[in-house]
Amino acid sequence: MPIDDIKKRLQNKSNRVISMTKTPTQNNILPNPDQLTPMMAQYVKLKHQYQDMLLFYQMGEFYELFFDDAVLAAKALDIALTKRGQHDGIDIPMCGVPMHSASTYIERLIKKNFRIAICEQQENPIEAKKRGAKSVVKRDIVRIITPGTLTEDTLLHQKTNNFLLAVSWQQDSFGAARIDISTGDFIVESLAHDKLESYLEKIKPAEVLVSEAFLQQQEFYELFQIWKAKLIPLAEKNFSYKPAYRALLDIYQVSTLDSFGQFSHGEISAAGAVIDYLHITGKGCTPLLKPLTKVISHQHIQIDSMTYKNLEVFQKLNGSFKGSLISKIDLTITNAGGRLLHKHFLTPLTDIQKIENRLNIIDHYKTNDELRNLVRSILKNCPDLERALVRLAMNRGGPRDLAIIKSGLSCGQELHNCHKPYPSEFQKKLTHFMQHEFLTQKLDQALRDELPASLSDGNFIAAGYCDELDQIRDLQNHSHQLIQDLQKKYQEETKIQNLKIKNNNVLGYFVEVKPTQKSNIENHTQFIHRQSLASSLRYMTIELQELEQKLLSASDKAHQIELSLFKSLVSEVLQYTNPIRHSAKLIAHIDVSSAFAELAHQQNYCRPQLDESEDLFIEKGRHPVVESTLSQEKNEKFVANNCQMKAQDNHLWLLTGPNMAGKSTFLRQNALIIIMAQVGSYVPADKARIGVVDKLFTRIGAGDDLAKGHSTFMIEMIETAAILNQATKKSFVILDELGRGTATYDGLSIAWASLEYLHHHIHCRTLFATHYHELCSLTSSLPHLSNHTMTIKEWEGDIIFLHKVQPGSLNKSFGIQVAKRAGIPQNVLERAQQILKSLESKKSKKIVIDQTLPLFETQKAPTTALKKEKLPLHPIVKTIEETDVDQLTPKQALDLLYHLKEKQQKAS
Ligand code: ATP
Repeated sequence: MPIDDIKKRLQNKSNRVISMTKTPTQNNILPNPDQLTPMMAQYVKLKHQYQDMLLFYQMGEFYELFFDDAVLAAKALDIALTKRGQHDGIDIPMCGVPMHSASTYIERLIKKNFRIAICEQQENPIEAKKRGAKSVVKRDIVRIITPGTLTEDTLLHQKTNNFLLAVSWQQDSFGAARIDISTGDFIVESLAHDKLESYLEKIKPAEVLVSEAFLQQQEFYELFQIWKAKLIPLAEKNFSYKPAYRALLDIYQVSTLDSFGQFSHGEISAAGAVIDYLHITGKGCTPLLKPLTKVISHQHIQIDSMTYKNLEVFQKLNGSFKGSLISKIDLTITNAGGRLLHKHFLTPLTDIQKIENRLNIIDHYKTNDELRNLVRSILKNCPDLERALVRLAMNRGGPRDLAIIKSGLSCGQELHNCHKPYPSEFQKKLTHFMQHEFLTQKLDQALRDELPASLSDGNFIAAGYCDELDQIRDLQNHSHQLIQDLQKKYQEETKIQNLKIKNNNVLGYFVEVKPTQKSNIENHTQFIHRQSLASSLRYMTIELQELEQKLLSASDKAHQIELSLFKSLVSEVLQYTNPIRHSAKLIAHIDVSSAFAELAHQQNYCRPQLDESEDLFIEKGRHPVVESTLSQEKNEKFVANNCQMKAQDNHLWLLTGPNMAGKSTFLRQNALIIIMAQVGSYVPADKARIGVVDKLFTRIGAGDDLAKGHSTFMIEMIETAAILNQATKKSFVILDELGRGTATYDGLSIAWASLEYLHHHIHCRTLFATHYHELCSLTSSLPHLSNHTMTIKEWEGDIIFLHKVQPGSLNKSFGIQVAKRAGIPQNVLERAQQILKSLESKKSKKIVIDQTLPLFETQKAPTTALKKEKLPLHPIVKTIEETDVDQLTPKQALDLLYHLKEKQQKAS
């Protein structure tokens, strides 16, 4: 498919996304500048360069938008669409927003995926007029704001990263590079082709850069279906390896990237594309990046986006944050702490030593209440250091950012002091806490307590910091007194008691006397005549003129001095970029560790033990979210449950029980406990010993994905296929119903076969909840499978859920009783009971599980994973294979034939 078609499709989907490679000549929507007023001509010329963005064009105190931009913005912002002049006899659409409140409008547009070019006046109208009456004020683009390149707190989510992502295509994998310019995080990784969709879901990039050539391939274009509104196609050259590598060397001022790690071709190409895009949109602003890091997949549990979704880690299935795991367990206080915790949950560890290190630090805070409380009270005053530092480095900062650096570093200092003497777990980390007393003192002296939001508002440097500024402010503050003093001096010199110093717009300051006092005043040569009126005479003096000049330029000068002091403070701060970043990182780590300790303390969590086994021993485990919801909303107690699996023994649990009995909760709580343990957190249990998990899978979802053309059953099968193809013996799998989206026999067969495959081939720890009670009898043929059930009590035709998991099975679903609770009409319930009785009495309908049924031998086209595995042989084939035919006597051969024939008859 030609790229233009792709663009058109992107444009149809969203008017605001057009390729960065579009040139002015391609445009034919905007009018010819020659036919417009000089101001409109200037607008159109600028707009030609930024067609894919909304152009905010400064007109005095407003940003105005014209033509299609005005129509789009007025609609998106729900503001009035008016007009400014005409072109070709047609009104030019116009809308505008006041400059002082523009950020709220920009925020709303950015949330709707618009990109914005800000064009501002470069001179005032008086200066422009000097070039001729019809001259237009000079304007230029000062900033490009796109969803992936934000640095403002008002536009960003505080506790999550905002990533700009580039994806490059390689034969065997994708290279992915993402930058959060608000924090400087720069991360690359390689992804198998089938992992891209899940990766996008997990990272939730604000913009996605891809090459046009890549998008021309239908199959890849389809991968980005739901990301279309965030897609930015770039030219293929933006992804070229060599320039990308050079750009990275330039950014980090190094001659090789070896010290950062080993990167694949695809990773470097993608990294180069992100850097290019930042150059295009940055208008000369260099981002302040942290060292390039690479995610190495085996160092983390592999969890796909579906599993995060099913377990409701970051958000509930309905999309809300409230009620998600993070919403309950994130007790971090600072924004950076929140972002770090989020990152930990995206990348739980597999390295036991690293997990232990994290747990040791939590231990320290947990056992030391006083320290934990002190640390958490200090953190309450700790602002977002790393984002303020980035804004200052990118010339987007203001006085409040300097104040953030000051108070952030002071908090760091306090944290450093309160940890002394360093506990051994911290020794290495805390000794690197930088001492910034010099800088904090300086900023403290330099800045006022109350600071303006914007640099241009001025008046942020404290009194006593700069003599010249103090004198000017003195002059401004005492101007009235100075004039009074001068007036008094002139009265005494001229002996004219009613001499006055006044001012007006025409003359400025002047000395005024009565006409009768003319000779008195003119005896003094410093008074120069300016104006004679019927009732007064007006004079000037050099002294008065100088004072006037001083007063007039004082505010201008004060502003200039403040700007230059701001600049030098910023450059001083930036000299300490790395140490400040280091402190910011330590603060975030302290926040996360003390927050986990606080959580463990409040919720009575235990320290998990991790080892290299494939066991799972959880004693009195709880679901962190259900537990807290039950206690907060219903004042009910959560029933804790054990989950004890031993490798090569009972690693497969089949869980039956009525609806609403707590099966899903039990399944999920064990998965969450594993994730929390490998994140390096305490866990909601009395005891937990966990053999480190390499991959975690869930088959839970019950929804379809119409956007991707997948039915509920198809999704169920995709999830199951992923588990059967990818799980290893170190994985953990939860299956909450399997085969329910199709006819009973088909579903049961799939569930049965999947169980056997997990048992025979994968050997991973699996919790399988089902309403197919028939599967319970599989324990006789699958030695590692055990039956467990949710206990209930029956009482007067109703059931009471005890929520307790016990060994054994239940051969009844109690679906009708649960339906009654849901409010199904009584006559429907009665009819359902009749039908159930009749079905149950027809024993012929009962499915008898034949354990001799050959399972895999007839499989024609094995999946990739199946191909690799050696399938179990049919007993007859096995006997033939094991027989040495040359060693058989004719009698033995005949006996063998009879034996095989008998075996075959039994099997059929
Ligand atoms: P279904 O088969 O219909 O999907 P289920 O057996 O999976 O049901 P859950 O969804 O896990 O049941 O639980 C239903 C409700 O029971 C939960 O919302 C919760 O309120 C309560 N519950 C579950 N487990 C427990 C527990 N261990 N202690 C207390 N209440 C629980």
